[in-house]
Amino acid sequence: MYSTRCTHCQQIITLKGEEIQAAINEAEAAGRPHYEMRCPRCRKPVKIQVKMLRLKLPREIPESLDGRAAGEGQGEGQGEGQGEEQAAEPTEESAETGTRRSKRRG
Ligand SMILES: [Zn+2]
Repeated sequence: MYSTRCTHCQQIITLKGEEIQAAINEAEAAGRPHYEMRCPRCRKPVKIQVKMLRLKLPREIPESLDGRAAGEGQGEGQGEGQGEEQAAEPTEESAETGTRRSKRRG
């Protein structure tokens, strides 16, 4: 709900959600930054900023928005920048790799 006053007679003008949406649509269709409506009292045109109307639009609230802990872990890139190659001396490695498999069911 948006309420403003007529700039001519100070009459309070209220727009409901649907009327606000309609007003925005009309203003956008006309390519204007404001919506012009007639005061119900003095019938003079009253300009309402579209951006003000937008603020009053009923927001669509997503269903899954309650009970959720905000802040899921955002994976940051791990620092993996090794540009230097170390000239290592060739060492003989004894290839004795015993593969152990420990399968235990308990
Ligand atoms: Zn008025």
